Amino acid sequence: MSTAIPLTLSFDGRFARELEELAVPWQAEEAPDPQLLILNEPLASELGLDPSSLRTPEGTLLLIGNRVPEGATPVAQAYAGHQFGGYSPLLGDGRALLLGEVTDIHGQLRDIHLKGSGRTPFARAGDGLAVVGPMLREYLVSEAMHAMGIPTTRSLAVVATGRPVRRETMLPGAVLTRVASSHLRVGSFQFARVNGDTDLLRRLADHAIRRHYPDAALADKPYLAFFDAVIAAQASLVAQWMLVGFVHGVMNTDNMTISGETIDYGPCAFMDVFDPGSVYSSIDEGGRYAYANQPPIAEWNLTRLAEALLPLLHDDQDQAVALAVESLGAFRAQYSGAWSAGMKSKLGLRADTHDDVASPLVDGLLGLLQEGKVDYASFFRSLGSAARGTPENARAMFADPEAFDAWAARWKALAPNADLMDRVNPVYIPRNHLVEEALEAAIAGDLDPFNRLLAVLADPYTQRHGLERYAGPAPEDFGNYRTFCGT
Ligand code: AMP
Ligand code: MG
Repeated sequence: MSTAIPLTLSFDGRFARELEELAVPWQAEEAPDPQLLILNEPLASELGLDPSSLRTPEGTLLLIGNRVPEGATPVAQAYAGHQFGGYSPLLGDGRALLLGEVTDIHGQLRDIHLKGSGRTPFARAGDGLAVVGPMLREYLVSEAMHAMGIPTTRSLAVVATGRPVRRETMLPGAVLTRVASSHLRVGSFQFARVNGDTDLLRRLADHAIRRHYPDAALADKPYLAFFDAVIAAQASLVAQWMLVGFVHGVMNTDNMTISGETIDYGPCAFMDVFDPGSVYSSIDEGGRYAYANQPPIAEWNLTRLAEALLPLLHDDQDQAVALAVESLGAFRAQYSGAWSAGMKSKLGLRADTHDDVASPLVDGLLGLLQEGKVDYASFFRSLGSAARGTPENARAMFADPEAFDAWAARWKALAPNADLMDRVNPVYIPRNHLVEEALEAAIAGDLDPFNRLLAVLADPYTQRHGLERYAGPAPEDFGNYRTFCGT
C-alpha cells in the first residue's frame, strides 16, 4: 500500500533475528473497527514518530499491527515461568506480539509491543484478546510510574478494536501499544535453560548484555557480571515500589524483566492505608505477592534466574552454584541500602544520617502508620508541611496524636529538609477510586475524566490548586478494593 504519510518506522527485528528459537513469526488479528482512544504524543516523539501521522487511520493500523511496516517481523515471544510458585515450562505471548525494535531519539533500542492482538500459538485456552478497561488502566498506571521516576514499560497508545470480547459480560476489545527497553524476562532465561541448549542460553545472555548491561561484557566473568547487574536493577526497582506503596500483584518470573523495568500491570494497585499485608489481586488468595513480600519474592525470582544461568557461570556445576549464591547474597544489602536511602529522603533526612538513627525512626513511624491505619501517600506528603512548621494535617491523621508528637519531636531534631521531601513524596498517585472512576467513564464513552487524571499524574510532585480531590484517600464507602488480572 502506498502512503503519503511519513510513517517512517524502521524496525530492527533484532530479537527475531538473533533468537529465532524464542520468536514465532505471527500476525495480529484484524480489528473490525479500530478507534484510537489515547496516544502518548511525547513518547511518540521520543521514539522518532510523528504523532499526527499516528492519529490518521493508517497510523492507527500501525499501532495495532494491522499495517506492518516493510522489514518488520512481528513475533510472539516464547518464555517459561513460575506462576505463584508453580513452574510452567511454556508460557509465551498468548495475546501479544513484538512488532520489533526502533531506535529512539537518544539512540536507545526500544521494543514496540502489542497486547491484545489476537491468539498466538501460545494462547492455550485464552482468546488472545484484551479489553478497553484494563488496557487503559495499564496505560494510566505505567505512565504514572514513569512520571514518578520509577523504571517501567511505557504506553504509546490504546486502540479500541471494535471487537466485542467475552468475559463475565461482553466487553469492548482493545490493543495496548507498549514500549519497553526490552521484553526479556527471567522467564525467557528459564525457557532457554529448560530446553537444554547452552548455545541458545549464551546467545540470549549476550543479547541481554548488549542491550542492557554492555559493561558486563568487559568484566572478568561477563555472565556473572550480567547476573549481578540484574540483581542490582531489581533490588533498586523493588525498593522504589516499596517506597511509593506500589503492590505489583503478580510477580511471577515471567513478569520480571531483565532490564529492571516494571512490567505487566494487571492486578497492581497503590496501597492506601499503610498495611504490610496489602493484597489487591483477586487471585492471590495466599497473599504471596502482598506488599511486604515483594522484596523476598524478587530475591526468589532472581534465584530462579540464577538456576537458569548456571551453565554460563562455570563449567563445574558446584562452582557455578557457589558463584550464584555469592552474587545472590548481595540482593538483601542492595535492597536495604536503596530502601533506607529512599526512606531518609522521604523523611527529609541527610543522606549521611547514620542508620542507627534513621532505622529506628523509620520503624517507629511505620508502626504508628499501621496501627493508626493512616493513608501512606497523604501522610508522607503532609509530613513536608510538618517539616515547615505546620504539623496539624499530619497529626490529624492519627487517632492517637500524642504518639505521633513524640515521634515527630525525635524526627524534627534532625532538621528535616522539606524541599527534599516534596521532591520524593508524590501528592498525586493513581489512587484506586480515581482510577476506577476514570475507567468507568471511559468505558461509557467519556474519556475526559481519564485524560484529566492522566494529566494530574503526569506531574506527581507539584501540588496544584484545584486538584484537591486527586490528592486524598478514597471515600469511606469505597470499600475493599479488588483487582483482576488476565483481563
Ligand atoms: P499475565 O498474567 O498477563 O502475565 O499472563 C500470563 C500468561 O497468560 C501469558 O503467557 C499471557 O500471554 C497469557 N494470557 C493472558 N491472557 C490471555 C488471553 N486472553 N489469551 C491468551 N493468552 C493470555
Ligand atoms: Mg505477563
